[in-house]
Amino acid sequence: MIVRRKNLPQIENRLEAMICWMDEQPMTLTKQYIVKHTTRYVKAHITKINYRVDVDTLHRQPVEEFQLNDIGRIEINTLSPIFFDPYKLNHATGSFILIDPLSNNTVAAGMIKGVARNIEDYTENRTEDDVSSKKSPHTVWRGLNIELAEREEKNSHKAVVLWFTGLSGSGKSTIAANLEKRLFGMNCKTVLLDGDNIRHGLCSDLGFPPEDRKENIRRAGEVAKLFFEHGNIVLCTFISPFRKDREFVRNLFPVDRFIEIHVSCDIAECRKRDPHGLYKKALSGLIKDFTGLSSPYEPPENPELIINTEKCPVEKCVDILYDFLINNKCISK
Ligand code: ADP
Repeated sequence: MIVRRKNLPQIENRLEAMICWMDEQPMTLTKQYIVKHTTRYVKAHITKINYRVDVDTLHRQPVEEFQLNDIGRIEINTLSPIFFDPYKLNHATGSFILIDPLSNNTVAAGMIKGVARNIEDYTENRTEDDVSSKKSPHTVWRGLNIELAEREEKNSHKAVVLWFTGLSGSGKSTIAANLEKRLFGMNCKTVLLDGDNIRHGLCSDLGFPPEDRKENIRRAGEVAKLFFEHGNIVLCTFISPFRKDREFVRNLFPVDRFIEIHVSCDIAECRKRDPHGLYKKALSGLIKDFTGLSSPYEPPENPELIINTEKCPVEKCVDILYDFLINNKCISK
């Protein structure tokens, strides 16, 4: 491969990818396939199905296998490492096909998202190196006092981050607060990180221009991570209007432990609700950089869940989230 010195591909044998299954035979996790990546052929196993995308609703569904035309996210192990870039950066080195070695059929086409990071890697490999690029000088990463798996076993539920994003007044806090009460009632360990509360104290030095919003979300994400590592279900309610900032937070967590929930509501309805009189203030010019009016909101492109609070009463919204947690085996009844 001829590459620029400052633009090297990644070299890995554990990948995460979006694939489209193109074979009449369903995909199986036990079978060996061949990855054709650029000009190379490498033996590979699919190790995990993260989810299937329901093409009607774009929701993610847990499934055991992929059938013909299914699209979804998987993890794949290749027998020897491949030299790749994420598909987002380079279509040629970020794509592959899967071949069934018995029939020689092309069974899937895939786009590489990046290196697979599962929960074991996350807790076992969170080393000094991992955090060294973002730490204060002369500080040492102490590691976890009690392993996450031990906490999860004791808690009888998984640690997950539920990230509620949406316009002011869309219903993030109301839904999260109700869901937290329900989870708390089931003896789950929960933490509710509220966007307004974080701006009291921890982020009181920040305003609302994009660079301050970015820092606000970065801090919120890091705080969520600390609670996550202590085994909690962390409910975070942040307008978090910028996709890039939310993507930053997503990347702090193992793939299936960050659940982005778009709390969707038309701005006209949010203005009507105006629970804290903020739209009124913003419209009269008292608040600058107000999301949806004088500052943009970038809706998530592929969130785990979209909840429309105009169509769905609060209790039903909470039920949807509760069912999602059950179906994804984060909690049990
Ligand atoms: P946010 O946290 O998104 O700024 P809030 O939860 O503070 O929004 O306020 C949302 C307002 O909308 C509340 O007054 C709530 O009672 C009302 N509301 C009406 N229907 C819903 C719904 N289905 N889900 C959530 N909130 C709703």
